[in-house]
Amino acid sequence: MMLDFSETATTDRQERPLFTPPCFTMAPAEENEATGLGTIDRHGGRVSVDEKRMINCRADVNQLLPLKYKWAWEKYLAACNNHWMPTEVSMQADIALWKSRDGLSEDERRAIKRNLGFFAASESLVANNIVLAIYRHLTNPECRQYLLRQAFEEAVHTHTFQYIVESLGLDEGELFNMYREVPSITDKAAWAIKHTQHLDDPDFKIGTPQAGQAFLRDLVAFYVIFEGMWFYTGFAQILSFGRRNKMVGIAEQYQYILRDESIHLNFGIDVINQIKIENPHLWTSAFQDEVQNMIREAAELEAAYGRDTMPRGFLGLNAALCEQYMHFIANRRCAQIGLTPVFAEAENPFPWMSEAMDLKKEKNFFETRVIEYQNGGALDWG
Ligand code: MN
Ligand code: FE
Repeated sequence: MMLDFSETATTDRQERPLFTPPCFTMAPAEENEATGLGTIDRHGGRVSVDEKRMINCRADVNQLLPLKYKWAWEKYLAACNNHWMPTEVSMQADIALWKSRDGLSEDERRAIKRNLGFFAASESLVANNIVLAIYRHLTNPECRQYLLRQAFEEAVHTHTFQYIVESLGLDEGELFNMYREVPSITDKAAWAIKHTQHLDDPDFKIGTPQAGQAFLRDLVAFYVIFEGMWFYTGFAQILSFGRRNKMVGIAEQYQYILRDESIHLNFGIDVINQIKIENPHLWTSAFQDEVQNMIREAAELEAAYGRDTMPRGFLGLNAALCEQYMHFIANRRCAQIGLTPVFAEAENPFPWMSEAMDLKKEKNFFETRVIEYQNGGALDWG
């Protein structure tokens, strides 16, 4: 269905003022169509699957069916099956360890606090980006359905950090301000925000190749890099404590977050690849170079964060290993979006992370309990 407002205005001139104040007809038609909040076209034809597009779609975005992108719908269903709440995880062991005099070294405490501080604000940054920047421009209802679910999950993740702060009696001001006050964390947040700021401009529209590439840059910065690279070293840090039977409550929560994030990441990758298929003119070789540079820069920012959070290293974990892991992950992300690797082939220094990521093997990873939900959305670990 083509929502051609100028044509409607010509053919139905007498009828139009009954439901459309003239001021609204002044708005560019394509802007209304993209958000789904434009004037309803009472005389339009029905949506056919062939008209559905990831960006710049001119078919009605308020109709979920007929489905075009089954992968988006399947991710929405998978995400709903993963429902969890942080308050269902017992924090007793963590509280005892955190309050003990010698259960954790100063270096371990520093790494844990900075890790929590990084995630605490990052979950809000990711949430704000999907709600205020991505949602508006992703003109496909099944993808939006997933984004709405993801937005809720980001709220659950932010809730997790509130719950941890409250349980351990941490200084909330210190933790939630780390993204402003700890330079190695600020550098990452500022780098990501730089790629979404212009999408926040109410006049920003995807129509030109430049704008389409700006949108892709935002998707790369937040899905591939923020959630797909930086979060993974963050998970590795905390899960490494969990493997040594330390901070097991937080480790369990991070395992749930990791399970959510692996779907966020894969959704972002599918979105990028589908946009590439539909808009090959955006994926120029110059743009591919640019994306590879973004990934290189992001890995360097993460290496700096690793040196800052683990200046000396502790049991099984240090900055050099985290940097190696980042190179391994960066090369994987490149392959997932069809780019050649940016680093020399790196061995995975944390092979146990693939186990934590593989949902089928997760069941006995920390012997976490399987939670039954009243709404029937049981956790399916197996
Ligand atoms: Mn999250
Ligand atoms: Fe996420």
